[in-house]
Amino acid sequence: MSDIRSTDSQAPVAPAAPPRVRFAPSPTGFLHVGGARTALFNWLYARKYGGQMLLRIEDTDRQRSTDESTNAIFDGLAWLGLDYDEDVVFQGANLERHRADVERLLATGAAYRDFTPHAELERLRADADARGVPFRFDPKLAELAPGELERRLAAGEPHAVRFRVPDGVTDWIDAVHGRIAFPNKDIEDFVILRSDRTPVYNLAVVSDDIAMGITMVMRGDDHISNTPKQILLYRALGATVPQFAHVPMIHGTDGKKLSKRHGATAVGDYQHQGLLPSAMLNFLALLGWSPGDDVEVMTRLEMLDRFSLDGLQKKAAVFDPQKLDWMNGQHLSMLSLDEIMPHVYPVFERLGVSTPEELREREEWFRALIDLLRVRARTVDDIARQAVPYFADEVEYDADAVSKQWRDANTAAEILSATRERLASLAAWDATTMETALRSLAEELSISGGKIFQPLRVALTGLTASPGIFDVLIILGRDRSLARLDQAVRWLKSDVTA
Ligand code: GLU
Repeated sequence: MSDIRSTDSQAPVAPAAPPRVRFAPSPTGFLHVGGARTALFNWLYARKYGGQMLLRIEDTDRQRSTDESTNAIFDGLAWLGLDYDEDVVFQGANLERHRADVERLLATGAAYRDFTPHAELERLRADADARGVPFRFDPKLAELAPGELERRLAAGEPHAVRFRVPDGVTDWIDAVHGRIAFPNKDIEDFVILRSDRTPVYNLAVVSDDIAMGITMVMRGDDHISNTPKQILLYRALGATVPQFAHVPMIHGTDGKKLSKRHGATAVGDYQHQGLLPSAMLNFLALLGWSPGDDVEVMTRLEMLDRFSLDGLQKKAAVFDPQKLDWMNGQHLSMLSLDEIMPHVYPVFERLGVSTPEELREREEWFRALIDLLRVRARTVDDIARQAVPYFADEVEYDADAVSKQWRDANTAAEILSATRERLASLAAWDATTMETALRSLAEELSISGGKIFQPLRVALTGLTASPGIFDVLIILGRDRSLARLDQAVRWLKSDVTA
């Protein structure tokens, strides 16, 4: 492992020691693709450099946190294969430590109690709004006459605790953005413990990150404005400040922040649409990271091999669903059949194409079919839809296919009858024998091969597009293929007389 030292404005690309990172989602909704992407970057960094990846569920907002959402996070990470080390940390369980850290800050004078009534703060805020100036808490408001603090505490009067922001500038070398600096005068003395004795986000996160030994905080850049406050808290608590990497937000193709308006934003939705987890992972990796060349399609191992902090990008990433489909198609072609098959069975069942029992009975045939269809498909759902004609007893003819390839019903019926006879007479059912026979039939009829193969494709599959015609004949088998030709001829003749 190389140990690249930072220059003035650059964070080190590789850590000096194995990093400890964490993914810290709030369980207040489904697992968002942006969250999964952040989890992936943390995972890649930890796994690449032999560190640890921890999971912390930030469930301090009791009203909005749900078990359902926590389970969606577990499921989503499991589906993507993003494993984590050690036990899951539930932030809500650390309340006593959060309060103890606040007490430490009070004890050193880094924080103070603020008894300003809520209504008074609201009035001051409204007043500042009316004057069009930002509201900033004035520490003088919290000053008390001698003996007053003790009296109020003894009376159990509710109060918040605020952090005393020192003078100066707070800066850090962000692994994505380089140096970021905030003048402390722009940061008000922020609340760290509310009057109901619950800690605010910034305090709970810092307290937990210290307790968990986190050395690198990698998260969305919507948190940049929290970072100076957190750095001040680390220092006041006497802890080492971790490194920070703020990864870009994800936008839709219209340049707006990704939301439900853009389609599915939950990882679970993609899981249930029959997407391959390896494709989703690959797609997510490219949302804010680039390996530095034109290579886009990567396995998990290739991503690990190529991941580095200097490939993280500043500008917002664009979530393009079409690219995700394309990526899935690439993975469908690239993975081994053994890797794909487990994803295929549930989709065939869900779409009612066939039951897992039926499929297992004809497993070899089924594997051959999937191997044929996957090349043209973008999703497993696509494969299942394309597979329907291979399972149905009767083929349904697509209207476009009929008007294009069977335009003249009489001619089509004649060609298909001749094709049927020729195929029925074959001694062997293999591609070379069939091709030789059908090409000589075309010659005898003085038509091109296509004039035989295209109508035949419609007869066999009902569609204009399918795998190679001989592959289709083989996968259907002789009996089924001939029966389909009979059905097509009957259909065309009845169409003519109708
Ligand atoms: N719970 C925060 C979020 O979901 C975590 C932020 C952080 O990683 O510090 O945005």
